[in-house]
Amino acid sequence: MKAAPFEMVRPAALADATALLTRTGAHALAGGQSLGPMLNLRLARPTLLVPITHLAALREVSETASSVTIGACITHAAIADGGVPDIGLPDVGLNLLARVAEGIAYRAVRTRGTIGGSLCHADPAADWVTVLTTLSAEVLTTDGRVLSLRDFILGAFRTALTPGELLRAVRVPKLSPTARWGYVKACRKPGEFAHAMAAVLADRGMTRAVIGAVGGPPIVLEGASVTRTPDLPGLDAVDAHLQRVVLGRAMTQAGLA
Ligand SMILES: Cc1cc2nc3c(=O)[nH]c(=O)nc-3n(C[C@H](O)[C@H](O)[C@H](O)COP(=O)(O)OP(=O)(O)OC[C@H]3O[C@@H](n4cnc5c(N)ncnc54)[C@H](O)[C@@H]3O)c2cc1C
Repeated sequence: MKAAPFEMVRPAALADATALLTRTGAHALAGGQSLGPMLNLRLARPTLLVPITHLAALREVSETASSVTIGACITHAAIADGGVPDIGLPDVGLNLLARVAEGIAYRAVRTRGTIGGSLCHADPAADWVTVLTTLSAEVLTTDGRVLSLRDFILGAFRTALTPGELLRAVRVPKLSPTARWGYVKACRKPGEFAHAMAAVLADRGMTRAVIGAVGGPPIVLEGASVTRTPDLPGLDAVDAHLQRVVLGRAMTQAGLA
């Protein structure tokens, strides 16, 4: 099937993009790796597409002593290739974000797909949704709002963005040198979306485990509730078993077993 007809207008600046996106039926187009298939399947029928990856304001990367801020239109490939500063964890030997990025799909998808597009699409099985929730990341929007990932992702394919508002950047706190981290996902084939995923972080006296690919927002366990055998309401026995196995492996990876 082919996409239904639509108009495409390339904005010269961020303000032009947000103005265009207030129009009914307008959609931002980032890497097109999720929106493209939805257009072709006619699951999305925008009347206006607004490409945004060329906008410099959405491609900025910056670093402070406590965080790294990544522009929404930075691609998975750029992160995998070390194009953003490390958030810490020197004993892992490789940037944590780079390791996550290089595990997303395959190179062709990573070259076009963006971190912002992934969060805005809000697929429950997306790597960044689970990983950045675990890392207490925040999103910065073009309306000047700063939201935690937990407040940003409202459900499967639903975010807190309002019409005309773009995700501008993601701010990820740096880890302490003693942080412990584990991230494991189960995919049928390399390059496919995961059927189960878990990220575990222990840092500065806090322990958090986040279980993704559960059909809605990730399940967040904190402190004493971080266990290899959590209650997983809404999952059938097979999915719950797979999620617990993956969680156990992530805990082992983090040295929490
Ligand atoms: C074959 C294949 C395998 C994949 N496997 C994985 C995987 O294993 N793990 C994984 O995490 N992902 C996977 N993906 C998805 C991929 O990571 C996409 O990059 C991502 O989901 C969407 O990013 P994008 O930049 O392409 O966004 P687009 O497809 O362009 O946009 C997605 C949605 O977000 C909106 N949007 C985009 N950017 C913004 C913004 N800055 N502000 C507001 N709204 C915005 C768009 O309007 C659209 O509704 C896969 C995709 C494919 C095609």
